Amino acid sequence: MTDFILPPPTPPSVAIIDSAARFPVRRIFCVGRNYAAHAREMGHDPNREPPFFFMKPSDTLVDDGSAIPYPPLTNNLHFEGELVVAIGKSASNIKPEHSQSHIWGYAIGNDLTRRDLQSEAKKLGRPWDWGKGFDRSAICGPLHPVATIGALDKGAIETTVNGKIRQSADLADLIWSIPEVISILSTSVTIKPGDLIYTGTPAGIGPLICGDICQISIEQLGKITTTIA
Ligand code: MN
Repeated sequence: MTDFILPPPTPPSVAIIDSAARFPVRRIFCVGRNYAAHAREMGHDPNREPPFFFMKPSDTLVDDGSAIPYPPLTNNLHFEGELVVAIGKSASNIKPEHSQSHIWGYAIGNDLTRRDLQSEAKKLGRPWDWGKGFDRSAICGPLHPVATIGALDKGAIETTVNGKIRQSADLADLIWSIPEVISILSTSVTIKPGDLIYTGTPAGIGPLICGDICQISIEQLGKITTTIA
């Protein structure tokens, strides 16, 4: 056994629906601009872009129901409601038609973003990390195992802030489907059990301020609630 000079950290994890056990998380991959209307609202042509990825540290994960202090360095914190896919099986260069067997489950996620820092990074050609990877920036609800709910390729996805609808779309509107995203990701890195993929957000992104209650629902997965403290 390795002799560590500090107690090794407990792995980050997400809840599993109807279970006391948790899903240990390895890495968090996020897809940029995967709904056409959102690509357009960010000033891009959705028809010409292959999917691209960025990452969040896995220790930014937060469970459903948490209160999140308004993060530092930003005046423009944004919500991004997303479907999250959890990987259960290792592989590289998977064909889209074989992707489904690598999915362990699905959850609802909120890819919190310091939009002002992200916009500045884009302008200066710098990495997005400070806009995307801050403390408590990856909200993830409980995982629903594929074994019980089957494959998800459609269903309403909706975000509300203080009860007002801000994002409303359907998983069927994804530019790159879940099997395609997994396939393309696996040509670049070996995907591993414990990896999460935030699959992109629909149009309607916007700010959160102190006191706001942000709820995201996906038809088959229920709803997650986050309060900005
Ligand atoms: Mn996102």
